[in-house]
Amino acid sequence: MTPPQPDRAPRPRSSRASSGRYSLWRLLREGFTGQRGWSRAWAKAQARAGYRVVIVGGGGHGLATAYYLATEYGIRDVAVVERGPIGLGNVGRNTTIIRSNYFLPDNIRFYEFSLKLWEGLERRLNFNAMVSQRGTLNLFHTEAQRDLMTRRANQMRLLGVDAEGVSRDEVRRLVPLVDLDNGRYPVLGGFLQPRGGTVRHDAVAWGYARGASEAGVDIIEHCEVTGLRREGARITGVETTRGPIEAETVCLTVAGHSSVLAAMAGLTLPIESHVLQAFVTEGIKPVLDVVLTYGAGHFYVSQSDKGGLVFGGAIDGYNTYGQRGTLPMAEEVAASAVTLLPGVARLKILRQWGGVMDMSMDGSPIISRTPLAGLIFNGGWCYGGFKAIPAGGMTTAHLIARGEAHPAAMHLDLARFAAGRTCDERGIGPHPYLH
Ligand SMILES: Cc1cc2nc3c(=O)[nH]c(=O)nc-3n(C[C@H](O)[C@H](O)[C@H](O)COP(=O)(O)OP(=O)(O)OC[C@H]3O[C@@H](n4cnc5c(N)ncnc54)[C@H](O)[C@@H]3O)c2cc1C
Repeated sequence: MTPPQPDRAPRPRSSRASSGRYSLWRLLREGFTGQRGWSRAWAKAQARAGYRVVIVGGGGHGLATAYYLATEYGIRDVAVVERGPIGLGNVGRNTTIIRSNYFLPDNIRFYEFSLKLWEGLERRLNFNAMVSQRGTLNLFHTEAQRDLMTRRANQMRLLGVDAEGVSRDEVRRLVPLVDLDNGRYPVLGGFLQPRGGTVRHDAVAWGYARGASEAGVDIIEHCEVTGLRREGARITGVETTRGPIEAETVCLTVAGHSSVLAAMAGLTLPIESHVLQAFVTEGIKPVLDVVLTYGAGHFYVSQSDKGGLVFGGAIDGYNTYGQRGTLPMAEEVAASAVTLLPGVARLKILRQWGGVMDMSMDGSPIISRTPLAGLIFNGGWCYGGFKAIPAGGMTTAHLIARGEAHPAAMHLDLARFAAGRTCDERGIGPHPYLH
């Protein structure tokens, strides 16, 4: 593949509305002048006939890839093509958790790279994404689990990443809401990553969109890709509901619809789609200031700034593209919730929703070239792709711009499945619904 060269003559930005710098001073000024100075955060672009790079999917990874292509690698002749409004896919449906507490060294490095990018992101984008490093606390309930978590914490520390063992008394102090003794599996202790936390998910899509648009990227909403244009073994563009668009490189960042788009190129991916649900309760006073995960079931919870408890569990086991989960899974999640936090039984659930997960065969993502020249793939994020957005965007942009994998993402190539060097974080094997 010939890597695209940086733009020699970046397109003029004069036609592009700039939303200006956001600051306290500007807020005050707008407050005193009738809020008349605000403009669109990103330009509503119309598609041109061709681009150097067309990114399919305006979720977190697509927008971040476009942003880093333009600002880090100097490639501005880029379009992001999204079938609906940006940000209504999984980037706006997740439970907002960020962390790098993985076990496999390659995964720790990749997610730590992402966490470091999160730490500087708001300043870089000049956008408040409400990055809150309140800590992620994983509980353990058996001695075997204590061993596993200690090993994981040690592995992280060896790689310079923050991780702390937490005693039972410390868990009691950190999360008074937890019932330590009366659950089916009493809490023995925990494992804390103090730098983990949450980020307001839709602000991430908006912030990257604003940054990309100002750097010259066209963000084209309500434009569904219906086919991939192919000449022999090369992809040359996309067919859309608004007509064809040519491209030197097409990059798929469509998360739950990865298999559908790959099939348009005649490719079958080691990915299955499943639905994952999330729930939010009515708002209550502050009771939980860490992200908490239950070790004896699949349940994780945090408290939003509005006061609702935001929680989720495992994916539904069947394959689907439907964005709604089933009652049995809702019951399973609720059962875990009240076992760990009995007080939750008295709260009303305000909202429940689902998102389609692209579950890979080893539970790790894919950022890779494909057998077709001109086609790059970013996907297989399972239910962990939100935290990976900055690193996913940066490494995918690197792959497009330089024609070779970014050092942090070399283990995420598609060829690993054929070569038998899978990146199976949980050691579960090719059972996507278990990862
Ligand atoms: C309930 C739930 C909880 C989760 N919790 C977490 C969490 O706490 N932490 C974490 O790290 N991850 C979490 N995730 C996973 C995370 O949200 C996803 O892995 C990640 O958002 C996927 O990447 P994305 O943002 O690019 O995807 P998306 O936002 O889904 O972007 C893909 C886009 O492609 C578009 N598209 C699809 N087909 C086409 C087409 N033909 N033409 C044009 N556009 C198309 C879609 O409309 C969509 O906007 C969770 C997911 C869910 C559903």
